[in-house]
Amino acid sequence: MPGRKGLFIPGPTNVPDEILRAIDVPMEDMRAPDFPEFTLPLFEDVKKVFKSETGQVFIFPASGTGGWEAGITNTLSPGDKVLAASFGQFSHLWIDLCQRHGLEVEVCDVPWGEGVPLDRYAEILKADRAHEIKAVLVTQNETATGVTSDVAGVRKALDDAGHPALLMVDGVSSIASIDFRMDEWGVDIAVSGSQKGFMMPTGLAIVCVSQKALEARKSAKLYRTYFSFDDMMNMNKNGYFPYTPATNMLRGLRKSVDMIFAEGLDNIFARHHHIAEGVRRGVHAWGLKLCAVEPKWYSDTVSAIVVPANVDGAEVVKRAYHRYDLSLGAGLARVAGKVFRIGHLGSLNEIMALSALAGAEMALVDCGADIKLGSGVGAAQAYYRERDRAERRAAA
Ligand SMILES: *Cc1c(COP(=O)(O)O)cnc(C)c1O
Repeated sequence: MPGRKGLFIPGPTNVPDEILRAIDVPMEDMRAPDFPEFTLPLFEDVKKVFKSETGQVFIFPASGTGGWEAGITNTLSPGDKVLAASFGQFSHLWIDLCQRHGLEVEVCDVPWGEGVPLDRYAEILKADRAHEIKAVLVTQNETATGVTSDVAGVRKALDDAGHPALLMVDGVSSIASIDFRMDEWGVDIAVSGSQKGFMMPTGLAIVCVSQKALEARKSAKLYRTYFSFDDMMNMNKNGYFPYTPATNMLRGLRKSVDMIFAEGLDNIFARHHHIAEGVRRGVHAWGLKLCAVEPKWYSDTVSAIVVPANVDGAEVVKRAYHRYDLSLGAGLARVAGKVFRIGHLGSLNEIMALSALAGAEMALVDCGADIKLGSGVGAAQAYYRERDRAERRAAA
């Protein structure tokens, strides 16, 4: 049907028209004498999105996966031990990337639906008196299962054990959407990508790196060329890049960061929570469960919804796409067919979230789910109206 297609996958997310217009400009000279007047303030401002003053930002023409590779190869050596937890497709892929680079990964296997096991991390770190573990990995928001982990809790486990390992965070589907504090939490490497919370097309890996991690690069022996921090820093310090930067994407990033500051990070986090809570009310009104097994794991950027036993989640996604022009996220790997996902991050308001619920509801019923049409949408509507009533009461 005519009209805009609904895009409710957890990235790429909906790109605001202002950002599209900022990107839609002629090609420019990336060696122009005034290019640094644009890039140098941009580097500083992107850092603020990570809540970092002391870190260093790197912007690679890549996707989030490239950010993982940059973080690992610049700070570690072959055979180095890293601690990681596997509880969904993205945390799994990050571990796989480490293993393919010859790192020795101590993997905590966690049931899908839970997040980073703080007590196991704490035990392992305490037991590692020789400090063989060089890095601790945290997927802050596991996009496959809709689970958010406690990064500050991992920092505490490191501090309690007096452990010097680097703290590396995959924030691809959380940074600029869910609370993240680079400096306060002592994060050493934080990885993000342009197509999620930054509300842009895919194409930039955005990485923030602590001084401690920059120091580690001096002894790190993994090979890096394209993702070399050194090459990037040498050129970035004067506002240039070691190879052709994605100039249009940088223009988009400028607009994105301006929009993030105009709304305010804390307001953005509150909006994501509000939108997500409405979606969760809808899911529960359907009588369905989230893949995240406890509220403490609930993600404010993506909900993975467990379909009834008689329904195939992949069919729900197909039906929504073909019949209702609505893209939902499919269940990945171990939860393929068992869940579908609603991405609710980036440039999003209540009405958009309601449209996703309405479409998902129709597709679920079409695929045999015993759900009353309107039940999920109604529960979310009631929740969204509640805040408005509370605000009016407070104002009266
Ligand atoms: C999307 C995502 C990635 C992968 O990013 P790409 O941009 O697809 O390379 C990694 N981790 C998480 C948590 C993600 O959501």
